[in-house]
Amino acid sequence: MPDNILRRKISVNGIVQGVGFRPFVYKLAKRYGLTGQVANTTAGVGIEVEGPAATVASFERSLQEEVPPQAVLLDYRSEAVPVGGTTDFIIDLSTVSGSAATLVAPDLALCRDCLAELFDPADRRYRYPFINCTNCGPRYSIVTGIPYDRAATAMRHFAMCPACRLEYLDPANRRFHAQPNACHDCGPQVALCDSKGQLVMSRHQAVVGAAALLAEGRILAIKGLGGFHLAVDAANEAAVRLLRQRKKREEKPLAVMVADLTAANRLCLLDKAEEEALASTAAPILLAPFRAGNNIASSVAPFVARLGLMLAYTPLHQLLLRELPGPLVMTSANLSEEPICIDNNEAVARLSGIADGFLVHDREIYMRSDDAVVVKMAGGIRPLRRGRGYVPRPVPLAGDGPAILGIGGELKNTVCLLKGTQAFPSQHLGDIKNLDAYGFFKETIAHLKKIFAVVPQLVVHDLHPAYLSTRWATEEQPLPVLAVQHHHAHLASCLAENQEAGPVIGVILDGSGYGPDGTVWGGEILLGDFSGFSRRGCLEPMPLPGGDAAVKAPWRTALAYLEVAYGGKVPGLPFLAGHEVEPVREMLRHNLNCPLTSSCGRLFDAVAAMGGGRQVIAYEGQAAIELMEAALPGLGEPYRWDILENGDIFYLGVRSLIRQIAEDVGGGVSLPSVSQRFHRTLVEMLTGAAERVRESSGVNTVALSGGVFNNYLLLEGLVALLTARGFDVLIHAQLPPGDGCLALGQAMIGRQYLMASQTA
Ligand code: ZN
Ligand code: ZN
Ligand code: FE
Repeated sequence: MPDNILRRKISVNGIVQGVGFRPFVYKLAKRYGLTGQVANTTAGVGIEVEGPAATVASFERSLQEEVPPQAVLLDYRSEAVPVGGTTDFIIDLSTVSGSAATLVAPDLALCRDCLAELFDPADRRYRYPFINCTNCGPRYSIVTGIPYDRAATAMRHFAMCPACRLEYLDPANRRFHAQPNACHDCGPQVALCDSKGQLVMSRHQAVVGAAALLAEGRILAIKGLGGFHLAVDAANEAAVRLLRQRKKREEKPLAVMVADLTAANRLCLLDKAEEEALASTAAPILLAPFRAGNNIASSVAPFVARLGLMLAYTPLHQLLLRELPGPLVMTSANLSEEPICIDNNEAVARLSGIADGFLVHDREIYMRSDDAVVVKMAGGIRPLRRGRGYVPRPVPLAGDGPAILGIGGELKNTVCLLKGTQAFPSQHLGDIKNLDAYGFFKETIAHLKKIFAVVPQLVVHDLHPAYLSTRWATEEQPLPVLAVQHHHAHLASCLAENQEAGPVIGVILDGSGYGPDGTVWGGEILLGDFSGFSRRGCLEPMPLPGGDAAVKAPWRTALAYLEVAYGGKVPGLPFLAGHEVEPVREMLRHNLNCPLTSSCGRLFDAVAAMGGGRQVIAYEGQAAIELMEAALPGLGEPYRWDILENGDIFYLGVRSLIRQIAEDVGGGVSLPSVSQRFHRTLVEMLTGAAERVRESSGVNTVALSGGVFNNYLLLEGLVALLTARGFDVLIHAQLPPGDGCLALGQAMIGRQYLMASQTA
């Protein structure tokens, strides 16, 4: 044996199972002419390679550089072991037992190879709605436990036929150990049922029948990857209206599914990055500007300039769209803020009265998840909602520490588990005030703990005493708890995602969060890090007549802000006509149920309503979204702005801003111009606030977080000006800026707290 022969033992962990990792290693070893073996282990994938030292080194380099597209390497260890004199390279298929620490992949959109086979009449899976391979298909949504193999998935009910088994066992095959592998003969089947759940047609006839229903303008419930959708023909105005009426979803934009990028480009103006996002294996809903003259019914996305678009990401969706002339509206099959429906019987029970038919199948969904929503802003594709295709992908952290669970807030909730140097944010769970969503919240926590085989040492919740998540943490579960302020959690989340430790200046803008002083916070200038924060400034607090009633009716907020700005002498602006203003003014005069808030979301509401924009909203954020779109394409001349001292903190002047806007509106200035000026003013005023904190603290980094930063005009304007003034600016890239990011920040603050208390 030449003396430069050596053998190395390599362990890799991360997302390395169910993504074609072993065949990749096998082919790589063959390419370099090395011997040894590869196997799945409880801790990921174990490799032993033997050969000339230089070749082994090249192999190791390629192993880390050429990982399969869906794999994520989180840990790589390599050590020398005695030479074994092996003569071939093999895949060791001996089964794995014990508690696995390796990660399941997210659900993966249909790959190119499977798509080609799906429409190839000569292929044995021609028109098979559940075709998949190691590069595509269901993963997270069908897993019940670990390790990830067929027995621990929804596929355990389907025994592979001889042809499928051969593929499954052949290391050179694209379906080698593809756990959901199946075909017409042995796998799940599709069926069409009527509105009562009675079987009408099966197999390909079911797809054809479903398409015929859609073409007639009927509403169809379709079982997908992460749950059921409700679908209608997106070009049929009457059908879309009927869906809105039955689903009780009046104006919130609906997403549209198309077969491919060509069809997507007919509907929206897309750049390269947006096309890549649409065609990625995560296959999210992308918000993009409408192309003029497309054939989408006007009530699909009324009053907004952007459409939520996605590509058909399962073979079933591809087959259905092939039978139809145009795009489909695809919306989560649930009533507002309930969790997405996953079970066939549950679907019929919950959706009868909405759906005219059900396109179902017999592969169960274990972990539900809504479609993710992303948008291009501030130079990148950024999530507004994390869901299918992203979970359970981890967010890498800068450091290690104890396992912690953050449980988020209440609306648009998510939870997040920290384990080692990774954070695992959950999918969007919805508004957990809803009983089903609360159940989903508890189920997800249990599932995360199970698949990551970890018991957190601390549960971190919001400071709000009335949130159901707070009550769950403090009353229903046994682990130690820590309460964290809402906007501090936003700041910490932005730090963690950027792998920074702080301190930073936090510019945190959202609708509302519980303040330790008992008022509602939401336009906050903080200075802090994981160990604590101080409130340096905020938007000047204003009254909110009726609390939630004002959130739903921006005109009430506008009236209140005018009352305060003008000391009770409200000028007669056009928007006031048609509203019952006296009862509201009465509440304000007597300070009855008028909580004070520094909320930035409410400031947007007030400006929108004053300017003649949205008076009463049909969905959260509607007034602000429409106000931003009115300002497009850009910013205007700023209003004069001021920052006022108020004891220990400063106020960003709201009264003077409201008076200037009222003068503009009274003078007949249009809503678009008012909005352009308002946005520019916010950018300058917030930068001024950051400069003020920099002067007193010496801190030069700003973190931007909070749901208001879904507004890309504000985000991009603020990033540009802060950068021009010499700040380093941190923004979210993997988590939404809204409350979907809270749980990560909470967990990081909790980890810091625990580590500090353990060393103290
Ligand atoms: Zn495939
Ligand atoms: Zn088969
Ligand atoms: Fe928030």
